[in-house]
Amino acid sequence: MQITIRELTKTFGSTPVLKGVSLEIRSGELFFLLGPSGCGKTTLLRLVAGFYPPDSGDVRFGDRCVNDVPPHLRNTGMVFQSYALWPHMTVAENVAYGLDVRSVPAKERAQRVREALGMVRMEDLADRTPNQLSGGQQQRVALARALVIRPDVLLLDEPLSNLDARLRLEMRDEIRRLHQELKLTTIYVTHDQKEALSLADRMAVLRGGVIEQLADPRTVYRRPSSRFVADFIGESNWLEGEIEEAGDQRLVARTGIGDFEASPRAGVQRGMKVWVGIRPEALDWAEGGTNVIEAELRQTNYLGEIEEYVLAVGEASFKCFVQNPERVLAPGTKLKMRVRPDDLLVLPR
Ligand code: ATP
Repeated sequence: MQITIRELTKTFGSTPVLKGVSLEIRSGELFFLLGPSGCGKTTLLRLVAGFYPPDSGDVRFGDRCVNDVPPHLRNTGMVFQSYALWPHMTVAENVAYGLDVRSVPAKERAQRVREALGMVRMEDLADRTPNQLSGGQQQRVALARALVIRPDVLLLDEPLSNLDARLRLEMRDEIRRLHQELKLTTIYVTHDQKEALSLADRMAVLRGGVIEQLADPRTVYRRPSSRFVADFIGESNWLEGEIEEAGDQRLVARTGIGDFEASPRAGVQRGMKVWVGIRPEALDWAEGGTNVIEAELRQTNYLGEIEEYVLAVGEASFKCFVQNPERVLAPGTKLKMRVRPDDLLVLPR
């Protein structure tokens, strides 16, 4: 089911929360709405679910405008952060609920509940009540309950936020597997960039009720459209710069610690004031060549799989990630690091 959202606006009281959002979600896509708290992602999801009417604009499922269709007739399955299971019902009864409401005959109902519990690997716990389940298991039940109605669209609102780190990873794999199996058009709201980067086909980064960037995860991470997006999706070291050269082959940005060469980018002209950004993992050991940074080690933070260096670079403080470090360096060590031209972020200032 393709979802088309056109010029959607929504104001609560005097606060405009969505300011004209347009986007198209492809049939079968795992689409993420991402952004900081209060940017309007849950509101957008709820407008798609039909819990709120829009002030203006429309939501289409396929060719059909669903603005006037109530939530229970949109055939969407929804999963909430809080699981929202009925505590007095068993797992099977919770999952069957949506079928009861739809008056599905008992035999078919039992069959579909088994099938849905099978999808999330919870058949064996069908007779338990939610308080006899772990958080991850409860969220599986919530997923089964959303899937049992055979929805055209699956809506997930921060489904993993209440789980601990290990369970979040496990459920991420589970959601990926289910999506690959079922190919359901899915909208997934989160403020967790790792969740979005690891699962999304495409994502929209929202800021203050507008879409700041809409692209696939690699593009958002490697070619963010603004410093806001770059900072939201990962860490960066930033330098103020100005474009010295903007050719077909390369870009050169002048900064307080020297010139940096970047691969060519559209929309960058000579004289433009820019932010030059370097992701901490893009810094690599250097002998010489282009984009070399001379630094002094201030501090090391050992994190197991990586070591985080805090570097003094001129007046600035840079963060650098070194993977699988083989030796411990003492503070005060002089280092030469480099960044590949294609890894450099160059964004309007
Ligand atoms: P979070 O990650 O914190 O859930 P969000 O991006 O999902 O944030 P929304 O829940 O869409 O943000 O809320 C956007 C803004 O709209 C917030 O300022 C919020 O206080 C306000 N808001 C949301 N729902 C309502 C409501 N029913 N009545 C009044 N204001 C609301």
